Amino acid sequence: MNADLHCHSVVSDGTLEPEALAARARANGVELWALTDHDELGGQRRARAAALKLGLPYLTGTEISVTFANVTVHIVGLGFDTDNAALNAGLAATRGGRRERAMEMADGLAKVGIPDTFDGALQYVGNPELISRTHFARYLVDTGVCDDTHDVFRRYLVEGKPGYVPHRWATLRNAVTWITEAGGVAVIAHPARYRFTPTEEYALFSEFKAHGGRGVEVVTGSHSASDAARYADTAIEFDLLASRGSDFHGPGESHSDLGTLPALPAKLTPVWDVLADRVHRPG
Ligand code: AMP
Ligand code: MN
Ligand code: MN
Ligand code: MN
Repeated sequence: MNADLHCHSVVSDGTLEPEALAARARANGVELWALTDHDELGGQRRARAAALKLGLPYLTGTEISVTFANVTVHIVGLGFDTDNAALNAGLAATRGGRRERAMEMADGLAKVGIPDTFDGALQYVGNPELISRTHFARYLVDTGVCDDTHDVFRRYLVEGKPGYVPHRWATLRNAVTWITEAGGVAVIAHPARYRFTPTEEYALFSEFKAHGGRGVEVVTGSHSASDAARYADTAIEFDLLASRGSDFHGPGESHSDLGTLPALPAKLTPVWDVLADRVHRPG
């Protein structure tokens, strides 16, 4: 099945509205879709309504920012109840420090001669509670400071660079618990992106499972073919369900468009096998 269970709208750091993403997913042949905005459920109702209108089955989704062993890890939640109070409160708390963080990022950039980036980035924000590094990156590209968003991250926004501000996100335990208690399944997003030692990575997967986490992204826009092969083995080692998602943020910006990824390796159990009764179906 062409499932795409990871992407972003203007409600977080994507460039398309939820309705436009639904239409794009449908046009690209997606058969099961989830919008997974960072730390935010504000686009869920619109995404679901648009998908169902197009005949596209929909799973609720989000991508929670977590700090684990001093590294930012992303946990995707799928198939939860969007009205769950603890999940909503947890996400609101996770979003909470973003504005202050962004002001500190702007201070750091001002010190190296790039002024006014807070107001600049704000012009790109669709949701005032969700100002992210991506919005700074777009501003710095459009003002000619850098050639593309990857260049901005590399030069200014990653650890050790002037616009980087360390931040404490949710705990792994809380993120997994919020998702699970809201009836959903927690999935480790794009594991190849984290700079962990083997011991730390083992701890991440072990603790994730101990807290009730059940899945891992194997095929994602953030993984090479060899990353996918490696985490297919990890999925088997830890007895985890496998997920698949483009992590699409917008045309011209993302590696992979909605619905265009390779299939999951046949030896894995897809996460959607256990989510059948959580899917919102047309008609
Ligand atoms: P934040 O939540 O504000 O720390 O921003 C994280 C977002 O920045 C991620 O969800 C990606 O969309 C984007 N991002 C992170 N690293 C890179 C990179 N190297 N190049 C382009 N985008 C990136
Ligand atoms: Mn993002
Ligand atoms: Mn992510
Ligand atoms: Mn993402």
